[in-house]
Amino acid sequence: MSANRERVHRTGAARATVLTVGRRERRSHLTAPRVPTVGIDIGGTKVMAGVVDADGHILETLRTETPHKSKSPKVVEDTIADLVLDLSERHDVHAVGIGAAGWVDADRSRVLFAPHLAWRDEPLRDALTERLRVPVMVDNDANAAAWAEWRFGAGRGEADLVMITLGTGIGGAILEDGQVKRGRYGVAGEFGHMQVVPGGHRCPCGNRGCWEQYSSGNALVREARELAAAESPVAYGIIERVGGRIDEITGPLITELAREGDAMCVELFQEIGQWLGVGIANLAAALDPSCFVIGGGVSAADDLLIGPARDAFRRTLTGRGYRPEARIVTAELGPEAGMVGAADLARLVARRFRRANRRRVERRERVSSLNATLNARLAPRSREVRR
Ligand SMILES: [Zn+2]
Repeated sequence: MSANRERVHRTGAARATVLTVGRRERRSHLTAPRVPTVGIDIGGTKVMAGVVDADGHILETLRTETPHKSKSPKVVEDTIADLVLDLSERHDVHAVGIGAAGWVDADRSRVLFAPHLAWRDEPLRDALTERLRVPVMVDNDANAAAWAEWRFGAGRGEADLVMITLGTGIGGAILEDGQVKRGRYGVAGEFGHMQVVPGGHRCPCGNRGCWEQYSSGNALVREARELAAAESPVAYGIIERVGGRIDEITGPLITELAREGDAMCVELFQEIGQWLGVGIANLAAALDPSCFVIGGGVSAADDLLIGPARDAFRRTLTGRGYRPEARIVTAELGPEAGMVGAADLARLVARRFRRANRRRVERRERVSSLNATLNARLAPRSREVRR
């Protein structure tokens, strides 16, 4: 009896694509169906949606603006549904993956909080699954980007990887043995808010001295503007470039000037890079990965940033000289990483769906919008009746 059960169990395990890890069941990317899926990256200003095949190739991309955070959660759902329906006109969509700038719970069904959107404990996965009639996966955007870099980019073949995304702030993600480490409550990897300078610069999170106040796009721009406002001689180059309009100093401009050899901008990248290296050494002390992938807009400066980061990392790493050193590399997939990663993570929940399914969804959408129109017309009349 027990042998029989054992055999049944083993046969089942061989056929199924579900791997049991801990309490939760997860598919492996190796056994997930090789079907195209849709990835959606919801950022602070833009929503990017694309169809991505099983090798990480982007087949089509659509972009639109992120609805303002004063708009209801329903508006964001509408935006997502419109993009998916548009793409499904031309592609079979077998699953939808969403990478959102925000905190996603450990079950990856609810967005707990998103600073740029009206989502507060929003049951996004179930709402969209119901609406789109395909499996939906929701994750944090940094997790999605890290997954993409691990599968198709700079972190290929690394069993233990940490990704750091330098944008306006710092995002992060941890990958171990082909699994994203999300923590017990889903919000692991918020490296940007580790305190590195007690009583330092104020951070929008409410604390002072957070790492992202010293090593991010915001830090870069703040420092450049401060120097320009003080009319420091080192800032003459950038002041001239913006015609004295200091608020027009941006991250991409500083990167451009640094590449041209502007001394102040090069120095700012050295400073930010040093802070990056110190933070990476701290993360290595805690997590000991084999590779750090540096992504996000600021990483476009490449060696101007990574060089000083590597130097500071080597100077700060605990046990230096007596341990193998992790590689520090620049991300390869660019701004599409979050979208590609979300799509590839969605393959883990994908099922084979065909165009017939899309037609059902379209009929549903048409009927519900027709109902909404009718209800709107009927509403005043029903009030009259009551009178
Ligand atoms: Zn903070």
